[in-house]
Parts: sequence; C-alpha cells; structure tokens
Amino acid sequence: MALIVQKYGGTSVANPERIRKLASRVGRFKKQGHQIVVVVSAMSGETNRLISLANEITKEPDQRELDVIVSTGEQVTIGMTALALQDLGFKAKSYTGSQVKILTDASHGKARIIDIDGQNMQKDLDDGYVVIVAGFQGCDAEGNITTLGRGGSDTTGVALAAALKADECQIYTDVDGVYTTDPRVVPEARRLDQITFEEMLELASQGSKVLQTRSVEFAGKYKVKLRVLSSFEESGDGTLITFEEEDKDDNMEQPLISGIAFNRDEAKVMVLGVPDTPGIAHQILGPIAEANIDVDVIIQNQGADNSTDFTFTVHKNEMHKALEIIHKEVQPNINAREILGDDKVAKVSAVGVGMRSHVGIASKMFETLSEEGINIQMISTSEIKVAVIIEEKYMELAVRALHKAFDLDEA
Ligand code: ADP
Ligand code: ASP
Ligand code: MG
Repeated sequence: MALIVQKYGGTSVANPERIRKLASRVGRFKKQGHQIVVVVSAMSGETNRLISLANEITKEPDQRELDVIVSTGEQVTIGMTALALQDLGFKAKSYTGSQVKILTDASHGKARIIDIDGQNMQKDLDDGYVVIVAGFQGCDAEGNITTLGRGGSDTTGVALAAALKADECQIYTDVDGVYTTDPRVVPEARRLDQITFEEMLELASQGSKVLQTRSVEFAGKYKVKLRVLSSFEESGDGTLITFEEEDKDDNMEQPLISGIAFNRDEAKVMVLGVPDTPGIAHQILGPIAEANIDVDVIIQNQGADNSTDFTFTVHKNEMHKALEIIHKEVQPNINAREILGDDKVAKVSAVGVGMRSHVGIASKMFETLSEEGINIQMISTSEIKVAVIIEEKYMELAVRALHKAFDLDEA
C-alpha cells in the first residue's frame, strides 16, 4: 500500500464527464489498496473567467478580495470530485485550503506555503476516505483566503505530498509528460522519460508552465518523487523528475541541452542615463523589492561618461507598478535621462546540465538566432541555462530554430 497524491489540472476537470473519468481512475488506485489524496484545479478557463469578472468591477481589484473570488473555482471542483467518487461507491471528503489548513504568508495572489496541518487528512485516509483538496489556495495567519499564483495547484500537490510523506506525487495534465519544449509550439518536441530536478526547475522558472516553479522547488527540498502524466491516457509512465546524485549512473550520456523554455510574460523596464556611481542599483531596485515585485534579468553596463543605462525585467502585470515606483520614488534621487517600459518582449532559454562540461552553447545559441535575423536585447546565464530577451513577435521562430539547432527535434 502506498500513499499517493494525484493532482489534476483544469482540462482534467473541465466538465462533469471528465470529473467522472478522473473519479474512475482514482477509484482504480483506491481498489489496489492505496491511500489517495486528490488535488484539483478549477475547471479550465474558470480562473480567467473569475479574474475578468472582478475586472468588470475595477481594473485594479483589491488583492484580498480578488483571492476570495478566484479561489471559488477550486471549491466547485473539489465538491464535484467528491460527489463523483461517492457516486462510484467510495468514501470521499473535500477540503478547501483553509479547511486543511494550508498556512501561507499574506502575499495575496502569490502567497507562499509556510505550513500544512496533515492531521485531519491523515485521519480520513486511515478511515478509508479519498481526500480531495482544493489546489491553488490557502489562508494566512489571520484566516484570510490566499492564492499561490497561476498554476499553483501543482504546488499544493507537491506540498501535500511532502507534508504527508507520500510515496509519490503524480501530476496529471493534458500532455503525457515533460517535453523538450512545449509540444503545442514545436510539434517535433520529444517526451522525456526522465529529467533531472535541476533542469526541471530551470525549465519551469524560465516559463515551461507544465509545472509551477514552486512545486519543483518543494519537490527538491523534500525529495518528493514527482511524475508528470496524461490524464487522458490509460497507460504510460510520463516523465519522472530525478535527483541527479541518486541517478548518476543513468545519466552518463547527458545531452547538451535538455529543453527550450519560453516566457511571454516578461516586460522590460529601462532607466537610461543614470549616474554611474556606487549604490545606483540598490536605489533603483530597493523600492521595487519593497513593493514585492520580482525582478528577473538585470543589465547594467559600465558607463563611458559617468552615466549608464540600467535595464531589468519584471512580470508584464507588474510593469506599470514598477514604472510608477521608479517615477515617483526613484527618479527624484537619480535624475535619469529617460524611463521607458516595453512589454512586447519574450524570453527564450536553453537548459541542460550538459552545459557544465561543454563550452560553446551560448555562441551556438547566438549564431542560430542571428541566422534567423533575431536581435538579442538582453542575455542572462546560469550554470545550466542561457536565456535571451528578444522581441515578442520572434519568440516562436526562435524556439523552433533553437530546438532544431540543438538536435532536439524528433528523428
Ligand atoms: P494543467 O491545467 O493540467 O495544470 P497547464 O496548462 O498548466 O496544465 O500545463 C500543461 C501545458 O504546459 C501543456 O499543455 C503544454 O502546452 C505546456 N508546456 C509548456 N512547456 C512544456 C514542456 N516542456 N513539456 C510539456 N508541456 C509543456
Ligand atoms: N486554477 C489556477 C490557475 O488557473 C491554479 C491551477 O490551475 O493550477 O492558475
Ligand atoms: Mg498548470
């Protein structure tokens, strides 16, 4: 007998019929004698619908109230899933995030999980129930409903698996595993039987939304056995996320690049003609950090005439807030020549642990992009990643060209 956490995404609960199918799959595992915790997302499209609904009242909704609204999507699907399981004769009980209690910090819209109380769930599992938990939501110390950011149900799944010391966390979605890039953009993309945790973390954080980044972080921290599978296929092993140290022997022949990720959600903030003096980066980015805005790529050159340009990227949704902060709080102290925003950019990244032992990956990437006539605006690298910011309209072309250039296309 194993304890398994199964997370089902929006398309897997898109309508009552799909929910019934999900319940039969869960039922099969239950009949094999396993204890099952099911985490569900809202029906596909529902979270977007709820956000638009709020936007019909105001374009800048209060984040606490927005969380109250968007968390309802998952409340519907947990109840529906419990009903479907009961209809098949299983004992099933649903929990919202705050009923569990999934304690988070108070950052509405991107809250972080601090603690999970597994006691009630464990008792129900021991009593033979299938436990169904709403993804994407929790509550802060004051009892306010919080949400974990888009795609956050993955994180709920992995965090529950860690808290309950589950044997495996299975992420069921609309593709049958992790591919070398998004198969919807590159039909030649290949499914990977396994991928190292580090590579998955980079791919996710560079925009591969098949797993939310924080879910991968959780899996790494608590060594949760994590697998991505299709909820539409009856069989198949999907993709296993591996921990390199343990699987060293299997990974002798590493490909140079394991995958290409892309992200349309970034925007560029340019602060041009600022004094090239100590402390300028802190003066610009300090207030941005205080406003809890995540900054991704940062570029600053040494200036020729005691002045320099400072550019960074943030999430598109936060570009206006970032610009406002720079204008109001930073500009009076630094007197920049010009402050500009550009949300027509995208980031494309090549990821692979094989990069550690090989040179020339970045130059091959730049050569490929130049052959396609694509201009690189910013570059950022890590030990296992090279990422470029380019004009958004060239993103898909860049992804396809790089996928081919790094021999990732299906033979
Ligand atoms: P869910 O609703 O099940 O959470 P998501 O839409 O969040 O599903 O994530 C699955 C989608 O992620 C796929 O349909 C695919 O378009 C996209 N995706 C992006 N990059 C990859 C990748 N490298 N491998 C597989 N899918 C990817
Ligand atoms: N329903 C939420 C979203 O659409 C969470 C999730 O699906 O993981 O982002
Ligand atoms: Mg998702």
